[in-house]
Amino acid sequence: MKKTPFWWQLLLYLWVSPISIACLPLALLAKWTGGGYVIHSGALEIWGGIVGQWLDKGRLPFLGAVNAITIGHVIAGVSPQHLHNSRVHERVHVEQFERWGVLFPLVYALAGLRAHLQGKRFYWDNPYEIEARARATAAARNKHSNPALC
Ligand SMILES: [Zn+2]
Repeated sequence: MKKTPFWWQLLLYLWVSPISIACLPLALLAKWTGGGYVIHSGALEIWGGIVGQWLDKGRLPFLGAVNAITIGHVIAGVSPQHLHNSRVHERVHVEQFERWGVLFPLVYALAGLRAHLQGKRFYWDNPYEIEARARATAAARNKHSNPALC
């Protein structure tokens, strides 16, 4: 795997930072209500507590129940296991945020709206979700065919 130069990664963090910083209070909220947080492979992963309950019970606007959600370099999940299971998928969304920066939520919504207007599903037929699912599936396939890479 190609390593990103430090200065380039720093620019990517800055490019996405207005969104990531806005989500930092979720880490404390999760921690104070029984969950936790950790930095994992360059992103802040948050789980459990009231944040995990919101995700699990679909209490966030425009979302049904989800295992995890990526917002900039912040990934919130129902539990550590949910974060583990969806790590590749959510890391693709981190890359998409790094590609589009603060524009990504708008770009994502427009792509979903476009799919919807074509008679498709906002989430399942959104090209950004299709990319994340495809790459997660490919990674799982590689992991099974070459367990030494785990
Ligand atoms: Zn996704």
